Amino acid sequence: MPLSFQPSPNIARLKESATLAVAAKARALKAQGVPVIDLGAGEPDFDTPAFIRQAAARAIEAGATRYTNTEGILPLREAIAADANRIQVQQQPVTPAEVVVSNGSKQSLYNAVVCCFGPGDDVLIPIPSWTSYFEMVELARAAAVPVLGDPANSLKVTAAMLEAAATPRTKGVMLNSPNNPTGAVYSRDELAAILELARDRGWWVVADEIYRRIAYEGDAVSALDIAPTRDNLIIVNGVAKAYAMTGWRIGWTIAPAPLSKAMSAFQGHTTSNAAAVSQHAALAALAEREQADAAVHEMVRAFRQRRDAVLRALGAFPGVRYVHPAGAFYLYLHVDGFRGAADPGAAFAAAVLEEQQVAIVPGSAFGTPNWIRASYATTEAVAVEGVTRIATCLTT
Ligand code: GLU
Repeated sequence: MPLSFQPSPNIARLKESATLAVAAKARALKAQGVPVIDLGAGEPDFDTPAFIRQAAARAIEAGATRYTNTEGILPLREAIAADANRIQVQQQPVTPAEVVVSNGSKQSLYNAVVCCFGPGDDVLIPIPSWTSYFEMVELARAAAVPVLGDPANSLKVTAAMLEAAATPRTKGVMLNSPNNPTGAVYSRDELAAILELARDRGWWVVADEIYRRIAYEGDAVSALDIAPTRDNLIIVNGVAKAYAMTGWRIGWTIAPAPLSKAMSAFQGHTTSNAAAVSQHAALAALAEREQADAAVHEMVRAFRQRRDAVLRALGAFPGVRYVHPAGAFYLYLHVDGFRGAADPGAAFAAAVLEEQQVAIVPGSAFGTPNWIRASYATTEAVAVEGVTRIATCLTT
């Protein structure tokens, strides 16, 4: 008898990743010859720096073609710990036993969510938030509890807002600064207050710091630097965004050793180690500090230039509201009331693609349907043209 696929209860409510779906749609349209301006997925447009590519080529020739330890090669975990210890000076040094290397920070986040949360647990998710947090929490069969940020403060949440949304079932909170999709950056005080609350309440803090090095108005503070204790802290980071290494798929967690052991055991049954050659490429990115810092600096300078150009272009459209982008490479625009649609962000995304050939991500993917996200990780000319078309569509 032919078997017709019925989703298991594990994935009954799973939705496709909206960010990846927009990227795929834009790629397909381009392949058909449609001149799409792709401000969809957040992916640096730079090549991975040459010294990293060369380190990877050398690693292949040297035989980095086999399994490694599930948690990653020791030199890379040492380099990650050393990098962390340059940020945090207040506490015991981070050790390699607290580091698990994974197949992208997406896997690191999933490891953390599955190992810390389960049925009956509530997880606070400040919104807008990156689309996959909701799905990961649901896959872990915990409940995602959205907490809407303050529009008067770059859509950021405060400790008081999290406290008001908490219940006795609350087990953790997902933080992300600089933020995807808004580009907002939490100040030291804002973050410190949230970390303090989480410690008092015994919540896990999953601090996704993948955009930490991409900040335009001073350094983005790391939770590692200000947390009163690391007992409840899981730092997630990776090489994808800062080093233009999206395709290499290397991310990591820094978490207490017993949790790290559990995450490694979980990963040992799902994917084993991240690709050996990619681990060596990431090692070069972290260990060759001088070259890496120069490359990151250059890319962040270019992102900032594009941000400034895009904001100048928006200056011609005084009615358009957006979150001030202080980091990452996203612009979050308010499209409330667009053509009277029930989901204004989705309606706007469809209209701007159809009428202006610009691909963007609707805010419903991030828990806020009245907004849309445009990524300016593309050339300045393309970013300015794309944002001008968006503003035109919005105001005509
Ligand atoms: N994180 C990026 C984004 O939000 C890449 C796509 C994804 O993995 O979601 O666009």
